[in-house]
Amino acid sequence: MNLSEVKDNLKSQGYKLTNQRKAILDVLMDYKGHVLSAEEIYEKTKERYSKTNVSTIYRNLEILENVNLVHRINMNGEASKYKLVCNDKHHHHIICKDCGKSQIIDFCPLKTINDEFKDEEFVLTDHRFELYGYCKECVKKKNEQG
Ligand SMILES: [Zn+2]
Ligand SMILES: [Zn+2]
Ligand SMILES: [Zn+2]
Repeated sequence: MNLSEVKDNLKSQGYKLTNQRKAILDVLMDYKGHVLSAEEIYEKTKERYSKTNVSTIYRNLEILENVNLVHRINMNGEASKYKLVCNDKHHHHIICKDCGKSQIIDFCPLKTINDEFKDEEFVLTDHRFELYGYCKECVKKKNEQG
């Protein structure tokens, strides 16, 4: 999805494209291949739209997550991070713990587990699964620092 598709999608789901939301989406688009914390999104959004504050950022991120335009990604023991959705298909991510760079895993490693549970007492509806590590550049930086 490009930025105008994202904006159209939001409007088609009945949400106004406020200056604040526009600024948040612009920031997320700039960092398309990265995950950002709400704090980082706040700092960067403020540069574009000074009237923003942290609680509206959280509220808007929640809305954007609910309408499936933003991924919220669990970071082990840390605050969640966010990114624009990559595509409509079910997928997972690998995320760099240092710089937040992310890459798509476009197959589902949990598919077999889903199939296992088909006749059980639970009806599975969704799951989360992300891989964490360090990207090539961050590994290089670490090695250079010794
Ligand atoms: Zn994604
Ligand atoms: Zn990295
Ligand atoms: Zn999956």
